[in-house]
Amino acid sequence: MVLRVSPGKGLWRCMSCEAAGNAIQFVARKENISDKEAALKLLAGLPGVQRASQLEEKKSAVAVPPNVAADLLNRVAAFYHRTLFRDSRRWAFGASRRVALTAFAAPSGNARLSI
Ligand SMILES: [Zn+2]
Repeated sequence: MVLRVSPGKGLWRCMSCEAAGNAIQFVARKENISDKEAALKLLAGLPGVQRASQLEEKKSAVAVPPNVAADLLNRVAAFYHRTLFRDSRRWAFGASRRVALTAFAAPSGNARLSI
């Protein structure tokens, strides 16, 4: 099985069965879970990240400063990178292929993660 990753587009495609998608969909297929479950699973693996529904009191949640949000995104990015790299080796990933991953937080507070 060969997995082709397009770093610029943040997408992957299986060259055997034509399955394709983004990072969350990658984890969803690998773990045989829904996209939502995959996203939550990835986030749950990060130290310091907690689902709002699991906070004791939602009102205690505070706005995250941009620099903290950027740090969180970097940790998410690192997690994705480790996950993809580990699996790519297992899947006989071509040695010439590279997975590039970036994350940034915009001044507006919007965040974007791309692989
Ligand atoms: Zn496939």
